[in-house]
Amino acid sequence: VDFFHAIPKIELHAHINGSISTGTMKKLLDRKEKKILEHCKTTFEEAERGTLDDCFKIFSVIHQISDSTEAAYTITTDVIREFAEDNVKYLELRSTPRDIAKTGMTKQSYIEAVLKAIEDCKSQDLDIVVKFILAIDRRNGVEVAKETLDLAEKYRNISSDTVVGLDLSGDPYAGDARDYIPVFRDAKRRGLKLALHLAEVPNKEETMALLKVLPDRIGHGTCLHQEAGGSLELVEFVAKHRIPLELCLTSNVKGRTVSDFDNHQFKLWYDLGHPCIICTDDKGVFSTSLSQEYSIAANTFGLSNEAVLDMACNSIEHIFAEDNLKATLRDSFQEQRHLLL
Ligand code: 5GP
Repeated sequence: VDFFHAIPKIELHAHINGSISTGTMKKLLDRKEKKILEHCKTTFEEAERGTLDDCFKIFSVIHQISDSTEAAYTITTDVIREFAEDNVKYLELRSTPRDIAKTGMTKQSYIEAVLKAIEDCKSQDLDIVVKFILAIDRRNGVEVAKETLDLAEKYRNISSDTVVGLDLSGDPYAGDARDYIPVFRDAKRRGLKLALHLAEVPNKEETMALLKVLPDRIGHGTCLHQEAGGSLELVEFVAKHRIPLELCLTSNVKGRTVSDFDNHQFKLWYDLGHPCIICTDDKGVFSTSLSQEYSIAANTFGLSNEAVLDMACNSIEHIFAEDNLKATLRDSFQEQRHLLL
């Protein structure tokens, strides 16, 4: 068995609608009213490269395909099963709640469909724990963000801690993320965790202001360092506060925010001994898997099998879950480690 597939893994940065496999996409497109979208682009092939703009065009097509609670349930169920098949033992999914008048889907019914899929997977013997993060799309404004925060709190209270926090995502060129700072501070006061997309593109002022909120994790952090349009001050702040980075190699190279794997920010942060968590971002859009991302990191940066296992195991420390679950995961990862080395 392929080593990277066999190691137990933690996935902390996976957008639900970016994670749709070709099999699920085919099922969704087979529905009569979706046939018209059959020839639209929904994925980047093997060696294909695009731009961030191309990625967001793909998401707008996917959102037309994934526009009902039935679709949301199917997608979430399949995505969980696929991560479990890739030996992911703990998964945090994130998604932006949407209202679609045409199908009667509301933000609430969308969240409920995702939560039902997560709940139903528990009875399927999949050996995976799944949590849910509600995403704030920075194109949608602060009022929507406040509503998302209220929904996160509401469903956290009624879903026995499946909903764990908030994400900030969406086109990094849209709006000014500083506008959302009061919402993030309020989320922290209400006991929700924050996983924010930060410095995907150069923007020192915005990045520093958001860092001062002390998010629990950073998505990408591509342009924190000086050579990528960031600054020493940003790097020092992140290093000093040891804010973990969710790093998505294929996504950044295919979306061309990084020129190639060799120049990915992983190296800089890994060499600093900073907490680095390998993630997929959008396994469907970027045709990847978490095993493949581990394999790319190991091959590009010359990591030993021990180092790869350590990285998978250390990711446990940064999950948005209770200490007893962390302890259980640590024990089972240690057991697997002995079998794999
Ligand atoms: P959804 O929230 O609908 O489940 O997943 C798709 C959404 O995730 C996109 O519309 C976008 O807002 C967000 N997203 C997915 N990948 C990326 C990424 O690489 N960068 C940013 N900033 N947002 C992303």
